[in-house]
Amino acid sequence: FEVFPPKKTSPVETVYKTLDALKDLKPDFISVTYGAGGSENCETTLDIVNRIKNVCGVESASHLTCTYLTKKDATKVLETFRANGVENILALRGDKIEGRTPCGDFIHASDLVNFIKEFDEEHKDGTFNILGACYPEGHPTSPSIISDIQSLKIKVDAGVTHLMSQLFFDNSYFYDFLEKVKIAGINVPIEAGIMPVVNRKQIERMVNVCGVALPKKYSAMMEKYGDNTEAIRDAGIAYAIDQIVDLVSQGVDGIHLYTMNNPYVAKKINDAVRSLF
Ligand code: FAD
Repeated sequence: FEVFPPKKTSPVETVYKTLDALKDLKPDFISVTYGAGGSENCETTLDIVNRIKNVCGVESASHLTCTYLTKKDATKVLETFRANGVENILALRGDKIEGRTPCGDFIHASDLVNFIKEFDEEHKDGTFNILGACYPEGHPTSPSIISDIQSLKIKVDAGVTHLMSQLFFDNSYFYDFLEKVKIAGINVPIEAGIMPVVNRKQIERMVNVCGVALPKKYSAMMEKYGDNTEAIRDAGIAYAIDQIVDLVSQGVDGIHLYTMNNPYVAKKINDAVRSLF
């Protein structure tokens, strides 16, 4: 599962309530976003990661973006993670935020992966498990899927043990991607990112930001139910379940559910597919 910190105006307790509901679903782990969508709410990521691990008793992973991180700050973050027992880090580049100048210490996520590995070598009493992001339809700024996979290979070779995919709505992109990735010699487990749509606005925003394709049957669903809150939520849940059944049947390494902090939707999907694993 993936959760994200609340907006600055909401208390962190709102996410704690979500976590209490999610923990009962017994996920393998819950990851927490870091500064996603340009938010400045990074310090709460650690609070939430700690809560997942130490109060909910579920394995946690912290996302960490590096575009606006200096090496000095990265060291501080890693020291804090170590001190709090955070072992799993999803090492990300992050996106440029309008009006802010990137620090320039890290250009690609692989630079952060190398940095974490160096940090590990200096502190021999424990190692971070480094995860990375991948894009079944190619990263939106990549000139081609092949060049994106070549970059992915650099990132994995730098020390990523596990990949989490961008969301997608058409499983065939994911299967094509798996074939190409194998040919490129990338052999780490890859979890499929599934985002159940809960409302039209949310999906329009995600498609815009992530540049993922919408299959015809998905667009038809949006067209028919997009203005009916309950119907689009139920149709979105059914669509995600259908995707997961297909992925699990075809031997996917794992499913990473973008919960959008919505335990109701996560539970519905979890209940429907639990027996498949
Ligand atoms: P990279 O791996 O650096 O790749 C970015 C681009 O650079 C790609 O086009 C790649 O092909 C290219 N590239 C990489 N390495 C090289 C190289 N050596 N030479 C040339 N080109 C290269 N954003 C947040 O702000 N917070 C989050 O918590 C967050 N969580 C995410 C979770 C998942 C599972 C995913 C899929 C994305 C998440 N994002 C998050 C969004 C992510 O930060 C953006 O997609 C960002 O644009 C790319 O990050 P990356 O780590 O994949 O970058």
